[in-house]
Amino acid sequence: MRLSRVVLASAVLAALTVPLAVSAAQATSKPSAADVHAFVEQMNKDYRERYIEPNAAEWVAETYITDDTQALTARANERWLMWLSEEIDKSRAYENVPGTDAKDARALHLLKLQTAMPAPKDPAHLTELTTIGSRLTAAYGSGKYCKDPADASTCRNLDELSKVLAEDRDWDHDLDAWAGWHRVGRGMLKDYQRFVELLNEGARDLGYDNVGTMWRAGYDMPPDEFAKTTDRLWSQVQPLYGDLQCYARNKLAEKYGDRMPKDGTIPAHITGNMWAQSWENIYPLLEPYPGVGNLDVNSRLEAERKAMLDTLRRDFKGTPSPLDLARLEHAADVKSAETMVRRSEDFYKSIGFPALPASFYEKSMLVRPRDRDALCHASAWPMDMADDVRIKMCIRPTEEDQYTIYHEMGHIYYYLAYKDQWPIFQGGANDGFHEAIGDTIRLNITPEYLARIGLAGKAGADDKAALNAQMKLALEKVAFLPFGLLIDKWRWGVFDGSIAPDKYNESWWQLRRKYQGLSSPVEATPVDFDPGAKNHVPTNVPYMRYFLADILQFQFYRALCDAAGHKGPLYQCSIYGNKEAGAKYWKMLSEGASQPWQQTLKELTGSDELDATAIIDYFAPLHAWLKEQNKGKTCGW
Ligand SMILES: [Zn+2]
Repeated sequence: MRLSRVVLASAVLAALTVPLAVSAAQATSKPSAADVHAFVEQMNKDYRERYIEPNAAEWVAETYITDDTQALTARANERWLMWLSEEIDKSRAYENVPGTDAKDARALHLLKLQTAMPAPKDPAHLTELTTIGSRLTAAYGSGKYCKDPADASTCRNLDELSKVLAEDRDWDHDLDAWAGWHRVGRGMLKDYQRFVELLNEGARDLGYDNVGTMWRAGYDMPPDEFAKTTDRLWSQVQPLYGDLQCYARNKLAEKYGDRMPKDGTIPAHITGNMWAQSWENIYPLLEPYPGVGNLDVNSRLEAERKAMLDTLRRDFKGTPSPLDLARLEHAADVKSAETMVRRSEDFYKSIGFPALPASFYEKSMLVRPRDRDALCHASAWPMDMADDVRIKMCIRPTEEDQYTIYHEMGHIYYYLAYKDQWPIFQGGANDGFHEAIGDTIRLNITPEYLARIGLAGKAGADDKAALNAQMKLALEKVAFLPFGLLIDKWRWGVFDGSIAPDKYNESWWQLRRKYQGLSSPVEATPVDFDPGAKNHVPTNVPYMRYFLADILQFQFYRALCDAAGHKGPLYQCSIYGNKEAGAKYWKMLSEGASQPWQQTLKELTGSDELDATAIIDYFAPLHAWLKEQNKGKTCGW
């Protein structure tokens, strides 16, 4: 579900010497505001032209995995990053020129922030950084836990270990899978320490104190103020999270009894997820009213596909061979996937968004190819910064996949809405916006909407069913909040030196306890590096965006519901079919990153501040119910 642009930008900028001729000329004559504008225009023009190559290479490499496509992508990415690095170097000469147009200044600022991995100027250090960066990524990607290191058949990868946590509620099985995976972090400790030093050197070369400051510079406010904003948001949602944690903890204690810690925390291995970042997998343990209001969208989608297959079989002339049957199955998969995508498109069109370009259906990859390896992880792609937008996903007829499509479609419509902006402004208003767009639409998938489009039976107003639905969503959205916050709280400390290398792991667990109310189920040793067991740390992808997106989607949703004239509890709102709300949303999307996000947010919501009261409003019924359940129980940790 990531953006392909993020993939490119998170790689390291390649080493380059400063173009001598340009630098020499600039040293003698100060550029004017007109020169700045000319530079920015040319940079944007080149950006659009050059962007197509690495993106096309990456698309083929992910939908047709071979050694050759990997090699071509590496070359194309390198060329792109070299160009970007050159432009950043050149742009230094145009900083702080009196009379510069605000848009030009913004373009220069965003250019510097195109990568999360600033390159040190020292070529030896740069090589060291890229080497360590790929070593950390590879250590994570190839990480395995082998119960018997001498026997390869006992090795399990992250997918297999995650499946244990998701499906097996046995304490010891989960502990084994959890602790086994967390061992992959161990080998990373020394590398990560050096990685931090080199990244900081690169950030200083770009004029920032450290990498954390650089990451926080992308939020149109002083970096310290942004840190305070995240604290304020957390204080708004902490009471709701605290009650959810308390309820979950007590339910888990009913199941696991004496094995639970006595300090009010939940051990990190029993929430159904490797990082305890979402708890949907233990929904059956926590469901308020067992079995009430299950809409069973899965069986409707499965039946829809089966009907398609039956029709294809009926229309087949003669007796199909096994090969014909396999073809018919595949044809049914394709038809079912396209129907699911069109269903999502229909929501966006109902609020006045344009139909997708025909090329979207011709060029997207919607099912797993039968003849080659492809990366199935769902993602949305802006191929040419214009109309060629695509989704890459291996769609199955399940509720989860149907909702993922609504999410990906949010990225697609964002790309389309801002395609006329300068390339450097073709991005989210801040990095939290992009992930929030489709999720906002997903909040509109109410039982009434599902009934209206034929994916569920007629829904009656039922408080118990509504609470079950709230719980299910809260285990995803509310449980995530402290995790979304703490990853970069920890990294900001690591980058600014307030967390020393010998305290990396200890501080990690202090934060997990403080925010998530979790504890490690095993004793940490000095060689442990548990942060390394989370993808975004070894691959160096900033994480605060996911915390922001979690808050923003409810803020957007409430604003759109207001625009649609919704009355009644927030969770019952669906803007399906409402063009006024759609027009406001489209306007916001079309701004891209062309102005400070505060202004963009204000145009939609009337406020220029991030605000968590909407998520609180949304979950008000659940929160009241949780407080009732927690009465007389010991909460807190
Ligand atoms: Zn996404």
